[in-house]
Amino acid sequence: MVKILLATRNVGKLAELRDILSAEAAQVELVGLNDVESFPETAETELTFSGNALLKARDGARHSGLVTVADDSGLAVDALNGMPGVLSARWAGSQKDDEANNRLLLDQMSDIPDEHRGARFVCAAALVRPDGGEEVFFGEMTGRLGRAAKGTNGFGYDPLFYPDEASENVTSAELSSEEKNRISHRGKAFVALAQALAR
Ligand code: IMP
Repeated sequence: MVKILLATRNVGKLAELRDILSAEAAQVELVGLNDVESFPETAETELTFSGNALLKARDGARHSGLVTVADDSGLAVDALNGMPGVLSARWAGSQKDDEANNRLLLDQMSDIPDEHRGARFVCAAALVRPDGGEEVFFGEMTGRLGRAAKGTNGFGYDPLFYPDEASENVTSAELSSEEKNRISHRGKAFVALAQALAR
């Protein structure tokens, strides 16, 4: 059984990756940042999701000595040339306030007609081994942005986002976590990573 660190303190992400690993038959014991000796939080200074995921995974592998997985994700809006992108969490400021981010995005998109409201969530999941081996797996969830928040599940931009793979007029904040994981950017990137680990 290989021990792997997922460089996160988010228990939801740990549980999601644990489920996917067991479904893909990867013989892995998954631990989080709360289970290893603490080290300073990695600054996300790169301009791409994969760059930031690699920064976090390299840091985790260096400090823990474990094979380490880290993910980075965000929303890329067509009408904003792919932004908020890596700035998704901080779009309305460094306080990382989901409601303020959603308000600002809706405001910026207010004049954009329905046919140009396409967007996608993107996730990069990096796998770094202490011997220096590195791989990155990607997942995407395409959809479009609504004009008001709808739904109370999920987090971040979920109340504004209508996924192509969900029923019509349902935002990702109206999906159960199982439904969302099945079609989400993170779910897809984690499945690809789990399949590589199981090989
Ligand atoms: P992180 O990489 O998981 O920390 O996500 C960065 C930011 O992207 C979050 O703070 C959200 O604003 C946004 N984001 C990423 N994934 C999702 C999602 O599944 N739903 C809604 N927002 C998301």
